[in-house]
Amino acid sequence: MSTNHDMTAIPLPATVIELRKLSDDTTLFRLRLDDAIAARRLKVIPGQFVQLSVPAGGEVPISLAALPGEDGALELCVRRVGHVTALLHTLAPGAGVAIRGPYGNGFPVTDWRGKNVLLLAGGLGIAPLRSLLHFLLRHRSDFGEITLMYGAREPAAILFKEELSELSGRRDMHLFLTVDFVSEEPPGGLVCHTGLLPGLLSGVNFTTENTVAALCGPPALYRCVVEELQGFGFPADSIFLSLERRMKCGVGLCCHCAIGELFCCTDGPVFRYADLRGVEGAL
Ligand SMILES: Cc1cc2nc3c(=O)[nH]c(=O)nc-3n(C[C@H](O)[C@H](O)[C@H](O)COP(=O)(O)OP(=O)(O)OC[C@H]3O[C@@H](n4cnc5c(N)ncnc54)[C@H](O)[C@@H]3O)c2cc1C
Repeated sequence: MSTNHDMTAIPLPATVIELRKLSDDTTLFRLRLDDAIAARRLKVIPGQFVQLSVPAGGEVPISLAALPGEDGALELCVRRVGHVTALLHTLAPGAGVAIRGPYGNGFPVTDWRGKNVLLLAGGLGIAPLRSLLHFLLRHRSDFGEITLMYGAREPAAILFKEELSELSGRRDMHLFLTVDFVSEEPPGGLVCHTGLLPGLLSGVNFTTENTVAALCGPPALYRCVVEELQGFGFPADSIFLSLERRMKCGVGLCCHCAIGELFCCTDGPVFRYADLRGVEGAL
């Protein structure tokens, strides 16, 4: 699969075309590049990210939460945590932003043909895994069993509830949800377990043979989920982790996102666990 090296260096103007509030602090932004030719040429590997510039704010790395739509729209699922993301949340449809990228390696989906795929998302980690799931479902016959396990803090923090309701009705994939604690009924008739994601792994049935696992979530999640997966017999090179680091340039120049000798931006953000074992501070 080719990336868009020719178009990645310069921020391209884009317009916010739609906003969808997903939870108290998280919104899905649909954007379209202003240059229709650039929009059509954009190639995305699930798991890649863009550098998003918000005027008078700055630039932040954000995962592509979907493959580009037929209308060339890009979807970014953004949590309001600080300066730039707060400013982004004040924008309305029609506002101008800019985008560099896509950057990073993404998930090696072409190597996964014929395999079962287990997606494990914690909280906002659903964002890059959503684009992966879209890819797998778009190429459904190329893959074996597809299972999504998604853990959120509480029912109100579950992102993409309507989509999850639809997915729960599909017969060609398995969906398991869990919340740390139940403050209210899960919305949209979603069936939810209670407890942490590693607990969900040991509590439900899924195929481990010929299976790859893709994991994204808060830092605390990685070590315990990897341990669980290894306990189930997953080899270290079948576990793929999408990592987050403070990042500046996004193209391997500034070293802000170094993980040992690796760069999160260019060697990642998706890493095989086998390549991170022994790298200090990786997990
Ligand atoms: C490859 C990659 C993909 C990402 N994808 C998404 C996404 O899809 N959606 C999303 O909402 N966020 C995503 N992030 C995180 C996002 O880039 C940060 O939340 C953002 O840069 C914060 O900018 P700010 O100016 O709003 O916050 P700041 O004012 O810079 O910081 C606010 C707080 O957030 C912490 N913080 C800032 N950046 C990071 C970071 N990269 N990792 C961990 N903590 C951080 C700071 O330490 C501080 O506590 C991604 C990061 C990376 C590296």
